[in-house]
Amino acid sequence: MSRYMSSRFDSLEAYVPGEQPQDMQYVKLNTNESPFPPASAVLDAVREEAGRLNLYPDPEGNALRDKLAFMYGVRPENVFLANGSDELLFFAFMAFCDQSRPVAFPNISYGFYPVYAQLLGVPYTEVPLREGFVLDPADYCGLGKNIVIANPNAPTGRAISAADIEEIVRTNPDHLVLIDEAYIDFGGENCLPLMKTYDNLLVCQTFSKFRSLAGGRLGFALASEALIQDLDKIKYSVNSYNISRLTAAAALATLDSNSYYLENSQKIQANRAYTIAELDKLGFETLPSVTNFLFTRCPAVDGGTLYRKLKARGVLVRHWDKAEISDWCRVTIGTREQMDVFLEKVRDIIKGAG
Ligand code: PMP
Repeated sequence: MSRYMSSRFDSLEAYVPGEQPQDMQYVKLNTNESPFPPASAVLDAVREEAGRLNLYPDPEGNALRDKLAFMYGVRPENVFLANGSDELLFFAFMAFCDQSRPVAFPNISYGFYPVYAQLLGVPYTEVPLREGFVLDPADYCGLGKNIVIANPNAPTGRAISAADIEEIVRTNPDHLVLIDEAYIDFGGENCLPLMKTYDNLLVCQTFSKFRSLAGGRLGFALASEALIQDLDKIKYSVNSYNISRLTAAAALATLDSNSYYLENSQKIQANRAYTIAELDKLGFETLPSVTNFLFTRCPAVDGGTLYRKLKARGVLVRHWDKAEISDWCRVTIGTREQMDVFLEKVRDIIKGAG
């Protein structure tokens, strides 16, 4: 740290993103990207838009907001666009949380939530998950704080129902409930219909997973017009051109290729079932998942050892040192071929450990 940095960040611990090796020598199952490339129409749209890169993009992102609104049966005023849902989450923490508006989220969830709270000086409570990493909605009902829940949760892969979310939203009418649905398109139940009834619900989604656009950086929120206006106020005070022309063009073309992405999601769900079954045979304990990843524990070696031994064999998965989950690894679901390589290396490691 230089001597010029503000001392208010002395104790800030920055988020550590998953490894992104640039030479692609690994079977990369560590950051929950789609293993499938964008649809060919997306590549065409990006190529065409590149000729207009001398001009700033539309700060309102109208074409894309109109299209998302149409798809989700809401009005464009209910849609907010961000440079990845990470930026969206940051804007939401900034807009809705402060010293007198603390926030609560599960103790095991997306690592950015506590970082944003710390960065902004927002008091936060980490609500312990129950046995088996189960989120008990009762822990959040009538809590009297802003609430952030990833549903399905990461890194566990478990989800709660829209009815449970409704209870949480209904019983906290004076607080914002942010539901982060980054992984909703792999079998979970989204809570978008609740938006029509509750003005304290903010739903965040992303193009990074189901829509194969992690490198494009696009997240979006759906919520009441007033909440979207609040987010807009922050956005126009930070970076009014937060969505690049290339990303907007890619996203529009993505929405026209929905059947391709739905097919990919089906493949991922089939590969997920296959991988769980194979891990079961090896004695692994794997949580039920409605996402494009698995949270799994090896009978023979701890999570850190499994991560390192897989990496040494060319397969990247994600592991955290945090005590409650240090036995576990999170494994992104890739193509069948990638999962077979992963399984082959796992068998190899188990044999060596026996
Ligand atoms: N929420 C959750 C739960 C995530 O796991 C991620 C991806 N790491 C994000 C949000 C952020 O996704 P992105 O910024 O790529 O939209």
